[in-house]
Amino acid sequence: MPIYEYVCENCAKKFELLRSFSEADKAADCPVCHSAQTHRAVSKCFSKSDGMTVSSGSGGCHSCAGGSCASCGH
Ligand SMILES: [Zn+2]
Repeated sequence: MPIYEYVCENCAKKFELLRSFSEADKAADCPVCHSAQTHRAVSKCFSKSDGMTVSSGSGGCHSCAGGSCASCGH
C-alpha cells in the first residue's frame, strides 16, 4: 500500500497517510486542525524513479501515464 503525502491548506501542515490506491484522491483530514482543506503532495514519486531525474515539472514521475503519481502508485 503506497504512502501518500498531503498538505493542509489551512495550517500548511504536511502529513503522510497509508492509503489504498483507490483512496489516494479522497479528501484527507488534517491531523492538526482537522480541516478537510488538504491536497495531495507529490514527492515520494521522485525518489523511487530508478535513478532518473524527473524534470518535467508536471508533478508526475516518468512512469506516470497521466502526469500524476496517482496513476502509477508511486
Ligand atoms: Zn491543518
